[in-house]
Amino acid sequence: MNFGTRLIHNGNETDKHTGALSVPIYQVSTFNQGDIDSPGEFDYSRSGNPTRKALEETIAKLEGGDRGFAFASGMAATSSALSIFSAGDHIIVCEDVYGGTYRITSGFFSRFNVEISFVDASDLSKISANIKSNTRAIFLETPSNPLLKITDLKGAIKIAKENNLLVLIDNTFMSPYLLRPIEYGSDIVIHSATKFIGGHSDVIGGLVVVKGEALAKRVYAVQNGFGSILGPQDSWLLLRGLKTLKIRMDYQQKNAQLLAEWLEKHDRVSGVYYPGLKSHPGREIHFSYADGAGAVLSFKTVDVETAKRFMKKVRLAAVAVSLGGVETIASYPVRMSHASVPKAERERLGITDELIRVSVGLEDLDDLIEDFDRALKE
Ligand SMILES: *Cc1c(COP(=O)(O)O)cnc(C)c1O
Repeated sequence: MNFGTRLIHNGNETDKHTGALSVPIYQVSTFNQGDIDSPGEFDYSRSGNPTRKALEETIAKLEGGDRGFAFASGMAATSSALSIFSAGDHIIVCEDVYGGTYRITSGFFSRFNVEISFVDASDLSKISANIKSNTRAIFLETPSNPLLKITDLKGAIKIAKENNLLVLIDNTFMSPYLLRPIEYGSDIVIHSATKFIGGHSDVIGGLVVVKGEALAKRVYAVQNGFGSILGPQDSWLLLRGLKTLKIRMDYQQKNAQLLAEWLEKHDRVSGVYYPGLKSHPGREIHFSYADGAGAVLSFKTVDVETAKRFMKKVRLAAVAVSLGGVETIASYPVRMSHASVPKAERERLGITDELIRVSVGLEDLDDLIEDFDRALKE
């Protein structure tokens, strides 16, 4: 079955007991186990809950992995996945990783003596150069945020396999519709389900999918032990959101492509970053493993004043952090997601005061273009 069909028919679409066409919200903490000699499948909702299980099985199938795990947020998913490592282990992390991931790897995990190297992963030789005897894993995010830099995923996975390293991919920007890293040999896939999977800016959640039962056991031990699980209501919202993932992505991505092409010609815009553009240096590599460019783009205005004016005047984009919702969101990285990064480091990464990131929504493109044009010029 193709992906769109699998979103709707994946074995988790109906309630096993009533046939209801929506898995019920099992709002429950504990389960009557009846016969103590042969207890039922569920005993306590931290360890397992039927609504969460339906979501976990669905995402595992969609990513082509063996098991899925649902967490209270994308960061809970990321920190739980990273908690399978031990003091003394070394992990290579791409340098323009999500800000929250940067904070927990550089701060929290360092305190527990998990050693981290931040590397420009768009240059594979830099990955190789940083592998040491205690390196256990590579953590990647592609396209990167906010400059949509591309990592050669297949090349990075090859290096990892040659060196016996696990590969963890934050697949939030692509969603399983556009990229399934496990198909290329990745071991762990992580999502902030808050973004495209939920899709409606109304739930915070995170997902992890793993390949192989041994790894699944290690992640499950953290999920059940730390207990940063996703509740049944939010699990249900993600199941609901997933059903329309393909149709939302198709439309948002088409909007993003046309908006990027339009921005590229605009005289107040000096550069557009979107892997769907012919001018994008990583385009060919990206499309060698992904099925689309996604719905997030960034652009730089000709001067700082124009960027600030755009952020003040734009009406059809919410000025907010986050992405992947049905509504267009514009964010100003230097004041929002990357405000805590020192200015010199931001400039080195290309995150300048002229940069605006846009998550393109489901509005009619003509309206978006009219609004963006006015906000750029006014
Ligand atoms: C938002 C985001 C996260 C963190 O997810 P939360 O649900 O906010 O905890 C991680 N990675 C990426 C790429 C994100 O965009």
